[in-house]
Amino acid sequence: MKISEILAKGGPSVSFEVFPPKKDRPLEGTKEIVAQIAAAAPSFMSVTYGAAGGSTGANTRAIAEHVQKSCGVPVLAHLTCVGATRESIGREVESFREAGIENILCLRGDCPPGIEFPGNAAFMHASDLVRELSGKGFCLGGACYPEVHPESAHFTDDIAHVKEKVDAGLDFLTTQMFFDNNVYFHYLARLRDAGVTVPVVAGIMPVTNGRQIARICELSGTSLPPRFRAIVDRFGDDPAAMLDAGVAYATEQIIDLFANGVGHVHVYTMNKPELARRIMDNLAGILVR
Ligand code: FAD
Repeated sequence: MKISEILAKGGPSVSFEVFPPKKDRPLEGTKEIVAQIAAAAPSFMSVTYGAAGGSTGANTRAIAEHVQKSCGVPVLAHLTCVGATRESIGREVESFREAGIENILCLRGDCPPGIEFPGNAAFMHASDLVRELSGKGFCLGGACYPEVHPESAHFTDDIAHVKEKVDAGLDFLTTQMFFDNNVYFHYLARLRDAGVTVPVVAGIMPVTNGRQIARICELSGTSLPPRFRAIVDRFGDDPAAMLDAGVAYATEQIIDLFANGVGHVHVYTMNKPELARRIMDNLAGILVR
């Protein structure tokens, strides 16, 4: 099923992100985890892809195929293009098609530290990948950044680049995580002003590891509201308390988004079935299944 059809239903609905094992690592443990996450009945699941040459490429495809065929949940496969050639992308996309994958999240990815790709590479930006895949029968999504992509000096430029990749053929966008819903609503207004009309799925990260989150936020440019900082300061060293607090904070964010007209939320599950289950339990009366 195409993600665009799911989003067109208007929600409220929730999807989950999972990640595959690293290259040459066994698939079985991740398949079991993914099946448990799928059992929480999300409207679709996405499977991440390694940057620069696809260090997880085959595993992304295998886990995505498992999600769709064995777990019965529509799947969105991520695909990064930094360092790729038109031939390597062509092969990967055909293998996705053979696996029955209909939805691709088109990403640039990040260059590994110390490596620089030539300025005349086939894929300099995600928009190059969108142009390559547009019209080939896939539903295409892309990433966007409510607090500006860390490489962009100006909001206006970043939004213009998002508009460029949407115009190249995207059906929807998914945001980077944010912890203050006003950040999302302001960003959405700016995208609409710029003429971006596709659905903008809100990406929510339930934080269960208080110590990791400061580093992740620093790298991604995501701000931590004082209310959230207080939770991490108080419970960050206690995993059980942080799980309770992280699930509660994320649930409150999701309910507020739904209450204010957002149709669909994508939850970064970090491959934690309990987290997925508890969030869905909290939303049982709200979600349209
Ligand atoms: P782009 O859209 O190419 O943007 C990257 C930067 O280039 C931005 O600053 C943009 O403003 C700028 N830019 C774009 N076009 C132009 C242009 N024409 N001229 C000049 N500048 C331009 N990473 C992974 O490795 N694997 C994953 O599975 C993965 N999944 C993700 C899922 C989501 C929902 C999100 C939000 C991010 C994900 N990422 C993933 C991270 C992503 O790869 C990085 O954030 C990466 O730095 C940017 O990717 P992008 O597709 O947004 O790039």
